Amino acid sequence: MAYDPNNIFAKILRGEAPAFTVYETDHALAFMDIMPQVDGHTLVVPKNDAENLHDADPVILGETIKVVQTVAGAVKKAFDAPGIMIAQLNGSAAGQTVFHLHFHIMPRFQGLEFKLHARSPEDPEKLKSFAEKIRQCL
Ligand code: 5GP
Repeated sequence: MAYDPNNIFAKILRGEAPAFTVYETDHALAFMDIMPQVDGHTLVVPKNDAENLHDADPVILGETIKVVQTVAGAVKKAFDAPGIMIAQLNGSAAGQTVFHLHFHIMPRFQGLEFKLHARSPEDPEKLKSFAEKIRQCL
């Protein structure tokens, strides 16, 4: 399948759709997931077109993972999370719903279950405050 430049993350990258941004480099952007599975659920996307892991430029992938590491550290600190889960889905059979490569950063706590994937939109004010809280821990 060819990369669709009208996917929502491409629109966010072009500034055509809003996002609660947490961190940005020349190569990647981090922002809050609007239907989080847990408080602090953050996404990191490369700025280059790539549908998934298989078609990503390895150099850009490396730059993107550096951003994942930086933001994961800030999310851990901001939410005082004992664990951080990184998830990355490739293809609809794997559960991918947005076809622009992205990494999920999710705080984990013993006994705290995740909400369902991409189901319930979060209060934008809450997302705004979470983004600010994470930025302060960068
Ligand atoms: P995937 O299923 O492709 O691994 O993950 C896509 C993620 O993007 C889901 O967790 C979903 O909640 C999130 N998402 C879907 N639409 C939007 C949007 O418009 N803005 C943001 N920030 N996240 C979105």
